[in-house]
Amino acid sequence: MRCPKCKSIEDRVIDSRPVNHCSGIRRRRVCLNCEYRFTTYEQIERADLLVIKRDGRHEPFDRHKLNAGIVRACEKRPVKLEDLDRAVEEIVQELETNYGREVHSREIGAKVMAKLHQIDDVAYVRYASVYRHFQDVGEFIEEVKALEQKPKVDSLQQDLFT
Ligand SMILES: [Zn+2]
Repeated sequence: MRCPKCKSIEDRVIDSRPVNHCSGIRRRRVCLNCEYRFTTYEQIERADLLVIKRDGRHEPFDRHKLNAGIVRACEKRPVKLEDLDRAVEEIVQELETNYGREVHSREIGAKVMAKLHQIDDVAYVRYASVYRHFQDVGEFIEEVKALEQKPKVDSLQQDLFT
């Protein structure tokens, strides 16, 4: 790192700590030439992961965009921010593990839907309506119905009384 004061490139790291859920690191450094102390932030970046969109265009994967879509779907829902953070973290990790250089936007969408399905039903349907571009209201209602037919935990108990 170049010293902001004397421009020397000789420095020593005196402290390192993770930030942003371990996807970044903060380093405290001291210049070996003038002893000036400064801080650097390093972010791990996957510049090589490309998203292939519906129309065939490519764009670099954007974690913030993924996060924004999930947060928007959960607006005014009783969800914990840390659950959303964890969902984003898990999706990013899955993408990094399972896809080499490119991933279809529909695969990301499917992963988001799988996560939202566990977190909040309303958020799931909201996201699905944007992501799947429902052609008509009927299609949308089908999705909601499918959701209602999810096996309920207490169905076994009901069986005992019928
Ligand atoms: Zn210096």
